[in-house]
Amino acid sequence: MKRLADKVALITGAGRGIGAAIALAFAREGAAVVLAELDIETARQTAELIKTQTGGRVLAVQTDVTQSASVQRAVSEAERAFGALDVLVNNAGINVFCDPLTMTDDDWRRCFAVDLDGVWNGCRAVLPGMVERGAGSIVNIASTHAFKIIPGCFPYPVAKHGVLGLTRALGIEYAPRNVRVNAIAPGYIETQLTHDWWNEQADPAAAQQATLDLQPMKRIGRPEEVAMTAVFLASDEAPFINATCITVDGGRSALYHD
Ligand code: NDP
Repeated sequence: MKRLADKVALITGAGRGIGAAIALAFAREGAAVVLAELDIETARQTAELIKTQTGGRVLAVQTDVTQSASVQRAVSEAERAFGALDVLVNNAGINVFCDPLTMTDDDWRRCFAVDLDGVWNGCRAVLPGMVERGAGSIVNIASTHAFKIIPGCFPYPVAKHGVLGLTRALGIEYAPRNVRVNAIAPGYIETQLTHDWWNEQADPAAAQQATLDLQPMKRIGRPEEVAMTAVFLASDEAPFINATCITVDGGRSALYHD
């Protein structure tokens, strides 16, 4: 029996990176998956790939998580295509790394619009149905920035701390209705986002090496390694795991010294 058989899942920002890996892992485990992504072309390509690899039911829907109406539309389309949603993964996120005092108002708003409002918009769209049905699992992709600070990375960690707070608050609020809300805090994961950050540094190769040197396992994580954790949290193997966060960082955040 596949671990997500008969489940319907919507994953935001699933065109590439961690979101695409989660969508593929969910489809492999038998879920019907909806890729809710800003860039519909990327989403369609990833959806085709997942269909080819798994033979599963896959739908791509253009979605901007910063707009609650857009997320609501994606949820309605998902439910029309596959039925009621069992799982939501709020994965869409952007890096906004600034110095607090030179950051613009737009930097602050952009960061919060995607990284925190986007997560709330997702929760808001699926919770009424999940609460009514008395079942559901929401997985929010936070970050180790949700409890650790790196100078110069403002305000991303502020938004990610908020994601953790939202996860706990909603997890407790809807626990009596059997709706679980959990987070995953990935450390460095090999995606476009990470490569973009290295490429913005004066010496990208040195920046990449410095990141690897900081890792206890001497490597960074793979999107599939986050996806495996999402499968677990979404599945019926985690019925009593709620309002908490699983860190997937190879032990990096447990290190006392660099
Ligand atoms: P990527 O940049 O590779 O992928 C993010 C995806 O989200 C892109 O497809 C992007 O679309 C989409 N997206 C961006 N804005 C929106 C929006 N407004 N509405 C819908 N989709 C949107 O990032 P990762 O896969 O690396 O990151 C995924 C999540 O994991 C993020 O929340 C990130 O903060 C978190 N994370 C990542 C880590 C890492 O090391 N990679 C570490 C810790 C946390 P488009 O291409 O069109 O912009």
